Amino acid sequence: MQFHLNGFQPGDPDIADPAARVQVSGATGVLPEEVDVLIVGCGPAGLTLAAQLAQFPEIKTCIVEQKPDRLLVGQADGIACRTMEMFYAYGFSERVLKEAYWVNETTFWKPDERTPEKITRSGRVQDVEDGLSEFPHVILNQARIHDCFLDVMRKSPAKLEPYYSRRVLDLHVDPAADATDHAVTVRLERVDAANAGKIEMIRARYVVGCDGARSTVRKSIGRGLHGDSANHAWGVMDVLAVTDFPDIRFKSLIQSAKDGSLLIIPREGGYMVRIYVELAKLDVGERVANRNIAADDVIAKAQRILKPHTLEVKEIAWWSVYEIGQRLTDKFDDVPEAEIDTRLPRIFIAGDACHTHSPKAGQGMNVSMQDAFNLGWKLAAVLRKQCAPSLLHSYSAERQAVAKELIDFDREWAGILASAAKAGGTDAAKTQDYFVQHGRYTAGTATHYRPSVLTGTATHQHLAEGLVVGKRFHSAPVIRLADAKPVHLGHAAQADGRFRIYAFSPVEDPAAAGSAIRALCNFLADSRKSPIRRYTPSSADIDNVIDLRGVFQQDHRELAVEAMPPLLLPSKGRYGLYDYEKMFCPDFKNGQDVFAMRGIDRKAGCIVVVRPDQYVASVLPLDDFAGLTSYFDAFMLPMN
Ligand SMILES: Cc1cc2nc3c(=O)[nH]c(=O)nc-3n(C[C@H](O)[C@H](O)[C@H](O)COP(=O)(O)OP(=O)(O)OC[C@H]3O[C@@H](n4cnc5c(N)ncnc54)[C@H](O)[C@@H]3O)c2cc1C
Repeated sequence: MQFHLNGFQPGDPDIADPAARVQVSGATGVLPEEVDVLIVGCGPAGLTLAAQLAQFPEIKTCIVEQKPDRLLVGQADGIACRTMEMFYAYGFSERVLKEAYWVNETTFWKPDERTPEKITRSGRVQDVEDGLSEFPHVILNQARIHDCFLDVMRKSPAKLEPYYSRRVLDLHVDPAADATDHAVTVRLERVDAANAGKIEMIRARYVVGCDGARSTVRKSIGRGLHGDSANHAWGVMDVLAVTDFPDIRFKSLIQSAKDGSLLIIPREGGYMVRIYVELAKLDVGERVANRNIAADDVIAKAQRILKPHTLEVKEIAWWSVYEIGQRLTDKFDDVPEAEIDTRLPRIFIAGDACHTHSPKAGQGMNVSMQDAFNLGWKLAAVLRKQCAPSLLHSYSAERQAVAKELIDFDREWAGILASAAKAGGTDAAKTQDYFVQHGRYTAGTATHYRPSVLTGTATHQHLAEGLVVGKRFHSAPVIRLADAKPVHLGHAAQADGRFRIYAFSPVEDPAAAGSAIRALCNFLADSRKSPIRRYTPSSADIDNVIDLRGVFQQDHRELAVEAMPPLLLPSKGRYGLYDYEKMFCPDFKNGQDVFAMRGIDRKAGCIVVVRPDQYVASVLPLDDFAGLTSYFDAFMLPMN
């Protein structure tokens, strides 16, 4: 897809008329007085959360934003493979794949040994290791990602729209309120010209501050961002430019002898490019605004770094100079560590409100969305009375640990770039090695939740070595039994708050009367202890809470759908129609055997439980019914 040839136009490039791409959006009228969840901020974190909660019309969600309308240009643009997997679950990965730039290879440039004032290419690597994810690493403006989430919200059962021009001033929790009360009172100010200064109040059961690095919500719960005071100023520009730099359509990391480093990120549409220029180290407590850096200064610096190549900027679509330190807050909710056993969280923070990163590793937007994905299903499960409210403690525990690891990585990566710069760019080989070795961090697939009530131990990991407990479910290609369609096993997971159980069959005939898969299905369908029976409302479809999928070792032509256990061919909906999409076989035609690819024990088979946010919760023997039951019993509330 090519666009922006004759100038940058924000919005959806599929809409021919540029004016129609930027129509005013948002909810009209006054705010609701009472909601289940109030989300503050329409950045990536707030919109990910809103799009998740919007799937449940029984949950009353409100999202507010101080800006007058949706974002149209600027800010982050890197989308990690793991984030693309999440976008699939939200239903818009294909749209992003079509519109985005794909980062297939990255090039490295350093000063030429004989004429160090000129840069020369020192290396070129594949950006993401083979097989890490079914999705590539892509680049698309944050504003377009926002649009995708806004679209999901608009079309969702809850039909959610943000309330713009509302600034949260402060919030107050009633300490005497019980778990079901709307205990948090929030004061907001209208900032649109017609209503400027008008104060509105809203009461919420839960408030989530997705309100960025200067978060009012974070301050209201007495938390701060701690960390690096050695801030760096960065210049960032999206430009349409004429250049003879040959790698302008590759992500390129350029280290010059004297002028610091520059990062080229080719952008969607085939012509635009983002340039990050490292400008200056700031003094402790200094703000970049004090330096009065102009767009021309950023361009001039970029031109010096790129020598002997030329860069003629024809149009600046967006630019910014900003300072970034690696900072983290110690807890992502309002409950002090010492009170975890006696208090339940009411107020959460997510995204930049809890952690900030340098743009070099492209983590800010990705980690922020993953925070919200982690919190969203948990809030929904508690509000829908599927899980006890104590589950909400796991959000801060899981995400604070992840953010800390990522910030340590980001600091190390920034240090490597800085030391290479100090050495006049001569450490390019070290930079390239580090980049390759740590690709899993930048791809977002390194996240590994520790054992907890939600995440089991590695006791039975040998049964599925490639589906690591605590890591995201690593999808693999399979053939759907009922219609021979090649699909991805992990794409069974939608952002719908459901758990998945993948039952991998031993080598035996799964249809046989005494097969292990049949025994598991019988237990899940009939036993009083079955988590499916215990936690699914009797009025709902059988896969409404826990979605069972079967994976067999035989070629799909060797098995008969009608001979399989009925739980894998459930009858659903008002007409009792069969759901034919629960059973899968290896894709032998393309040489892709999911059992071999994910290290599944062929003799024993296994059960893999996957959380609603796509993380592997547990790997169990196929006949460990007690283990399966006790996993869910630890945090779910019986329905029937
Ligand atoms: C100017 C700028 C440039 C950036 N450039 C890059 C980049 O080039 N590359 C990169 O990787 N990352 C960049 N980032 C960081 C990246 O955009 C963030 O990591 C990411 O957006 C974090 O998402 P978030 O949802 O947590 O917060 P944000 O995207 O910051 O969203 C927070 C939202 O909350 C709103 N808000 C704040 N306070 C209130 C309040 N009191 N009431 C109501 N609404 C409120 C804000 O207006 C904002 O829309 C940039 C950030 C900024 C601000």
